[in-house]
Amino acid sequence: MTSDDLRKLIRDIPDFPKPGILFRDITPLLEEPDGLPAAASLMAAPFRGHGIDRVVGIESRGFILGPLVARELRAGFVPVRKAGKLPGDKLRESYELEYGTDVVEMHSDGVRRGHAVLIVDDLIATGGTALAAARLVERAGGTVGGLSFLIELAGLSGRARLERWPVSAVITY
Ligand code: AMP
Repeated sequence: MTSDDLRKLIRDIPDFPKPGILFRDITPLLEEPDGLPAAASLMAAPFRGHGIDRVVGIESRGFILGPLVARELRAGFVPVRKAGKLPGDKLRESYELEYGTDVVEMHSDGVRRGHAVLIVDDLIATGGTALAAARLVERAGGTVGGLSFLIELAGLSGRARLERWPVSAVITY
């Protein structure tokens, strides 16, 4: 499957979760048996041979894609979760939303000093969530080897906030 094939499996849902937002729904892609493996393979491709030790996936759709990308790269998987979900010692980062702030957390020992880390999520919009995940990785002593998304909403310029690192997206709107 090519990126164009995958694009046809993304469903647009207007005004979700609130008026004015065009939600890019990946569930039709998940229903297609070849969809998720192809997405993971294309997301991993630019980072093959880069010595990635850990894939960090962002809750919750990063938990669907991240482990498959980790398998493609023969790397371990580390979850970044919303506040209050992880049981062990953790690092936390807050980041700005359109209204208010949100918090993400990662186990302090999920990423070790010197690890090369690929950050994975389904979609980059403003880049705020991914930037918070990158800060967690660096505070744990890891190096961000890149960020890989299935979908990029280019109009929101999230990539500009991540300019320190290689950023890849399979499908761009
Ligand atoms: P941001 O921090 O602005 O880059 O937002 C990225 C996060 O919000 C990702 O975890 C996405 O899953 C979700 N998200 C933001 N905008 C959309 C959208 N239009 N459709 C689907 N998910 C979105």
